[in-house]
Amino acid sequence: VSDPDPRDDQLLTAARAGDARALEQILERHQPQVYRFGMRMCRDPEDAKDVLQDTLLAAARSIRQFRGASSISTWLYTIARSFCIKKRRRNEDGSENAPSVARGTTTEVNKLIDPATLPDEALATKQIDRALDRAISSLEPMYREVLLLRDVEGLTAPEVAEVLGVSASAVKSRLHRARLSLREALAPLLGTPETARGTCPDVLTLFSRHLEDEISADVCAEMEGHLQACGRCRDACDSLKRTLALCRTSAGKTEVPPAVQTSVKNALKSFIGDNA
Ligand SMILES: [Zn+2]
Repeated sequence: VSDPDPRDDQLLTAARAGDARALEQILERHQPQVYRFGMRMCRDPEDAKDVLQDTLLAAARSIRQFRGASSISTWLYTIARSFCIKKRRRNEDGSENAPSVARGTTTEVNKLIDPATLPDEALATKQIDRALDRAISSLEPMYREVLLLRDVEGLTAPEVAEVLGVSASAVKSRLHRARLSLREALAPLLGTPETARGTCPDVLTLFSRHLEDEISADVCAEMEGHLQACGRCRDACDSLKRTLALCRTSAGKTEVPPAVQTSVKNALKSFIGDNA
């Protein structure tokens, strides 16, 4: 492959034809997303590193069988997810006597930054980032994976359904719950007053469903009308929008640590070398 920035499909074709460099290149390109997903599903840097390495090796092993019916991202998430599930089972088996508190290692990275040295605005951003991280971590795995794939990684609902092997409607109903619970956790930090009750419609679910094209134009217009008249519901919707925007930008904030990159690179090189 001589193109300096070849497309995924070009690399895939070359990789399937036995081009080791193309194989390495395409797996390297998708490494950050696999690591990010593993990190947030497993909540443990060691596990995330294993998931990344196992996923890329499994993909390298079966690249010839990958027919490209789905995108390479979708395929890699599917593989990564199965390794995350294995990790979870193993950890659950082995931790019967351990405290049932979530193994909170998502704070590892945050510990590197001393809040005292940050200006107010940066500090506020840091606090929101941490709260978002905590809120995502505390979702049940079945809700967490849907939210991560759809709102952090940016897959479409049908793609998420493909990764999980469930219907798109199951994905959407989990997604709405996950989004609302995340919004609720972040609302105090975003300065949102309590959600309106009483005669107000459930604008948050409606808005989330609207984002997934689940509501008719009529219902949508009705919601718009209510939002124009009701400041509390407007604020609530606004906080949901901001929460989702934070999810999306959080994807760009996770980097694969250099040590992990090196270790994965070596594992891939030795696999490809053995099989060239
Ligand atoms: Zn209202």
